[in-house]
Amino acid sequence: MAKAVIALGSNLGDRLAHMSHARRFLSTLSTVPPVASSIYETEPVGEASTHRYYNAVCAIETELDAMSLLEALKGYEQEYGRDPSAPRWSNRTIDLDIIDYDRQVIARQRLHVPHPEYEKRLFVLDPLQEILPGWRDVRSGETVDALIASSHKIEVSKTSLKW
Ligand code: ATP
Ligand code: CA
Ligand code: CA
Repeated sequence: MAKAVIALGSNLGDRLAHMSHARRFLSTLSTVPPVASSIYETEPVGEASTHRYYNAVCAIETELDAMSLLEALKGYEQEYGRDPSAPRWSNRTIDLDIIDYDRQVIARQRLHVPHPEYEKRLFVLDPLQEILPGWRDVRSGETVDALIASSHKIEVSKTSLKW
């Protein structure tokens, strides 16, 4: 059994519905009910992205190995309307990234864990701190508090949305 942390993001269409649907999907991959953060609303990052995001993270426990988990997440994204040929960081109905897989460091062509640059992204770190306040980066040992303090300040607002 592996503990994994997944980041969710949506900035197209009915964002709340996309987030809730994806959360239910994650629960089907998990042997325990996922621990979910609040939804945060975030200003878009990157030129190809023009709409505000909803972001959150979920902690799951899964019997899937890391590559199978990635395939499951990508399969879900494609089924729910993401255009796989759209440029990176463009608007999307749902984005599911593996932030952590069982505290492992994985460097394969199609899978990097921890997720590249998560430690600089406030829209991942804020919800991560909410559900895992004792989090440390597996490579540097830095606390999530320290990562937040040194990350680029963008507008990330915690919402009280039910999802
Ligand atoms: P970013 O990766 O910077 O957040 P993005 O989410 O827009 O940007 P995508 O187009 O969703 O990028 O993903 C590009 C590729 O990243 C995927 O095809 C996947 O194979 C690869 N990838 C590498 N590591 C991971 C990971 N930890 N979680 C999800 N995808 C990953
Ligand atoms: Ca992403
Ligand atoms: Ca992604």
